[in-house]
Amino acid sequence: MECYKFQLVAIVSLVLLLPSTQGWGKDGHAIVCKIAQSRLSDAAADAVKQLLPAYAQNDLSSVCSWADTVRFYVRWSGPLHFADSPDKVCNYDFKRDCKDQNGVKGRCVVGAISNFTDQLLTYNTKTKTEYNLTQALLYFSHFMGDVHQPLHVGFTSDKGGNTIAVRWFKRKENLHHIWDVNIIETAEERFYNSNIDDFTADLQKNITKGWANQIKGWETCDNNKISCADVYASEGVKAACDWAYKDVTEDETLSDDYFESRLPIVQLRLAQGGVRLAATLNRIFG
Ligand SMILES: [Zn+2]
Repeated sequence: MECYKFQLVAIVSLVLLLPSTQGWGKDGHAIVCKIAQSRLSDAAADAVKQLLPAYAQNDLSSVCSWADTVRFYVRWSGPLHFADSPDKVCNYDFKRDCKDQNGVKGRCVVGAISNFTDQLLTYNTKTKTEYNLTQALLYFSHFMGDVHQPLHVGFTSDKGGNTIAVRWFKRKENLHHIWDVNIIETAEERFYNSNIDDFTADLQKNITKGWANQIKGWETCDNNKISCADVYASEGVKAACDWAYKDVTEDETLSDDYFESRLPIVQLRLAQGGVRLAATLNRIFG
């Protein structure tokens, strides 16, 4: 028993110590999936319901961070959460940027989205699929969130801002974590009494009002393609240059100015992630 207790403490400590390089934090991914599930066609809603594990109780947002919780022991999945470009290069190129640390092509968030799209497309085929479509859905929904986090399409040598040490108000953080978690958390604390549902509801209101005339454009995928992750990655690295990295120096304290000017970008990317996740699932499942 003591030994078991020790192991548990060791595992919990290890999890707490792991660097946060996962993409939007739990809240960001949940927001993307919540927005998406509310926009599904009947056919896609039914497919999602069939594929979700029973414990999710038909709530996609409850399992949207599953891919992060398994990535440290499902080693092959690590490089699939991001697609970094060469330093100071503010555009995305599949051939140049979509590879893992061993140079294996296609192993990045954009390649993963297209791979899991292909797997999910076997849902409606007559023959029995060889894929685990529950896992495919969870990975796909997570990576559609990740590709919208600008620093998941950041620069290679600073690992998408992970090695840039800064302060968030008084707390020591790294730039990547500020975009994964802190901007969202600070907004929830300041404006929504720390209530994620109210934060999400405000984004949804904006989707039907402020951004209403842009939604068709967000949803559209050119040339009749089913998923368009290369477009989202291109927007992401541009936002990383224009907003995330811009004017940030090592060991700087980032506070109100940075928060207030970057929050609208975070809100936009969360909303786009949700709208596009739904649009893509609707195309996949008919
Ligand atoms: Zn991730």
